[in-house]
Amino acid sequence: MQKKIAIFGSTGSIGTQALEIIAEHPDLFSAEILTANNNADLLIEQALRVQPDAVVIANDSLYLKVRNALADSPIKVYAGAAALEQIAASENIDIVLMALVGYSGLLPTIQAVRAGKTIALANKEALVVAGSLVMALAAEHKTPIIPVDSEHSAIFQCLTGEYAAIDKIYLTASGGPFFNLPVEQLANVTCADALQHPRWNMGAKITIDSATMMNKGFEVIEAHWLFAVPERNIEVLIHPQSVVHSMVQFADGAVKAQLGEPSMKIPVQYALTFPHRTVCNSPKIDFMNYKSLTFMQPNTKKFPCLELARYTLRAGGTTACIMNAANEIAVQAFLDGKIKYLDIYLTICKTMDKIASISTPTLDDYIETDAAARSVAALSF
Ligand code: MG
Repeated sequence: MQKKIAIFGSTGSIGTQALEIIAEHPDLFSAEILTANNNADLLIEQALRVQPDAVVIANDSLYLKVRNALADSPIKVYAGAAALEQIAASENIDIVLMALVGYSGLLPTIQAVRAGKTIALANKEALVVAGSLVMALAAEHKTPIIPVDSEHSAIFQCLTGEYAAIDKIYLTASGGPFFNLPVEQLANVTCADALQHPRWNMGAKITIDSATMMNKGFEVIEAHWLFAVPERNIEVLIHPQSVVHSMVQFADGAVKAQLGEPSMKIPVQYALTFPHRTVCNSPKIDFMNYKSLTFMQPNTKKFPCLELARYTLRAGGTTACIMNAANEIAVQAFLDGKIKYLDIYLTICKTMDKIASISTPTLDDYIETDAAARSVAALSF
């Protein structure tokens, strides 16, 4: 049976690869909803090509542009954040691929969870900000959440067919563009340096998060919520070849890993085909290209964001929500050339010092805390 897919963030790195997968398997999938934040031109081009039921442009100032371009088609056009949330619960959708960037993914994810849609989750920030709430709602509504993040997809694949509890997760990390850079040179790295990721081709925000290793900190939090593993049992390993996508250790000491060339196509496709697999147009690994696979401990003095993210998980409440909001403001300021690389961490710390965490937050508490943390972060530089 053909699965009907809604792609939230269809113009981004994950979204465009998902559309390639859907085009390669028209018997298995159809794209019924596409959404974009600002990239109206690509959204229009995609809509004319795949003929979805509806599109949403989140930036409502671009509504007329999109509507006019699709005026001769039966495609419905909506705009704005409220439309994005509403359409996440659409009746004619089987899978919501949530590939929005940052906090903007939280409310649409919650709507899709409440509607009981199968969620292919690429938006890790929804779990970073409000993992306890999202997972509680998913349990209440019996909503499957299938990870798309390559590490978490690897863990999920290792767990498929297992009944045993996880003893330990080994979360692998490439180390990012500054892994080999002496720590004293970090003060002067540029945005262009940070955007040169050695192994993965991704959007700007996640690439900067990889350069600070905040991304790996987020992934520790994401793994904690997805797999119910305590923070102390999640170990980050630097693995520069990015071939082992992550590993799971069980009580008997057996370790399972999932391997492959670094490509997001496999995890995206697996989330859509689960529990099945089908052919995938992604590069196959040639082990002769890898003389050795190496593993090292991360340097948390050089990359303090990793330890900061772990702290927020132990602290609980809205602590991680505050960190995430400040990080989004700081990363955007770094991309805009307003602050330097080391200011990203400092901005987050200053913001966390100024805002109190709420220990058992409601959804409104998360929304208010996010807004407050953004204001404080923006005033700190
Ligand atoms: Mg990842």
